[in-house]
Amino acid sequence: MTDSADLAPIREAMRALCADFPGDYWRALDRERAYPEQFVAALTKAGFLAALIPEEYGGSGLNMSAAAAIMEEIHACGCNGAACHAQMYTMGTLLRHGSAEQKARYLPAIARGELRLQAFGVTEPSSGTDTLSLRTTAVRDGDAYVVNGQKIWTSRAEHSDLMLLLARTSPRPPPSPAPQAGEGRVGGSRTAGLTVFLVDMRKVKGLSIRPIRTMMNHATTEVFFENMRVPADHVIGREGEGFRYILSGMNAERILIAAECIGDAKWFVAKAAAYANERVVFGRPIGQNQGVQFPIARAYIDMRAAELMVAEAAALYEAGKDCGAEANMAKHLAAEASWAAADMCVQTHGGFGFAEEFDVERKFRETRLYTVAPISTNLILSYIAEHVLGLPRSY
Ligand SMILES: Cc1cc2nc3c(=O)[nH]c(=O)nc-3n(C[C@H](O)[C@H](O)[C@H](O)COP(=O)(O)OP(=O)(O)OC[C@H]3O[C@@H](n4cnc5c(N)ncnc54)[C@H](O)[C@@H]3O)c2cc1C
Repeated sequence: MTDSADLAPIREAMRALCADFPGDYWRALDRERAYPEQFVAALTKAGFLAALIPEEYGGSGLNMSAAAAIMEEIHACGCNGAACHAQMYTMGTLLRHGSAEQKARYLPAIARGELRLQAFGVTEPSSGTDTLSLRTTAVRDGDAYVVNGQKIWTSRAEHSDLMLLLARTSPRPPPSPAPQAGEGRVGGSRTAGLTVFLVDMRKVKGLSIRPIRTMMNHATTEVFFENMRVPADHVIGREGEGFRYILSGMNAERILIAAECIGDAKWFVAKAAAYANERVVFGRPIGQNQGVQFPIARAYIDMRAAELMVAEAAALYEAGKDCGAEANMAKHLAAEASWAAADMCVQTHGGFGFAEEFDVERKFRETRLYTVAPISTNLILSYIAEHVLGLPRSY
């Protein structure tokens, strides 16, 4: 992010907080695939996770650049915001589309950290990226909806009180004629029939959670719904329009995750530069060799370029302008930059890049996620091809 003076105190405060959570804290958790309870509690207590909640609901009412600076610093300090980043942006769907009563009931408690809204149930095993083909159904029955189906990759479900759930409330509309070049992806009846629910996981019956062990410590899960009754007043916005509501929250998610990637890239570059200065082979620091210093310089340049796009996307978001293309490009460039920096950092460390105690291999595994989730590279390229360049929709 372009650093404005008013972001400096936030960055400083984040660095001070993260100093209490050094590499050995994360290593121990990583070994056990355990949740960073203390780290998340510290962030919550300090109010950082309520950064984007407006002041009228008890949050800090900060802007997107400030929220991005928070996430970036977490990652630049070697920590991992994936355990709690959704607490920051998932509430956006409730904020923008929830009723006055829902907002008053939930947002202040979320801002105080008494309620955790960390779980986001969209992806399903059979639908994957094709969200419109999801199969989880919610059928109205009196004053409730009865939900049946399954989600996958519902991260942090075991560490959340609430879940934002996307389910089908009416059958999928029949396919329309083949799309033409430049035709919008959203809109029309194609997206109708999906509804967003705010599920209080502490209160419902018929919900079960199965953790998925992954290559990094991510607290992700599969969630099963068997005749789960969700009160009808837990629908967000209007029935059948949920896809649009979910999409409206995605720019914030993309920008914040891009900021995490920038933080990761900064960590990898700093770690590699320090090691290249200190490691002596053939009687001189390895960083004296151009073959070692050039990849570090390249990773730095790529990170800085991506950082500009993150700043532009955040600025557009703050101005209330359409930032779909910029948010996607920021996420793409930042994820590519962090992954390239991770690879460079392992290479710079030679064998020690693989040793747990250097944290490089842990961060390498953690940052790998972001070219796949929350949206994979190909889908971003398809978005730009279709929506920016006017090429025919390819799927
Ligand atoms: C650790 C982790 C945490 C996650 N957390 C959450 C969460 O909290 N909530 C949630 O809802 N989801 C979550 N996800 C899901 C994530 O958003 C998806 O994994 C991601 O969007 C990719 O979808 P998929 O895995 O189903 O891949 P698929 O859709 O099966 O695609 C597989 C590959 O094919 C490519 N592909 C598919 N279709 C096309 C096409 N038309 N053109 C070109 N390429 C194509 C994709 O780009 C991808 O590379 C998480 C995933 C992971 C791994």
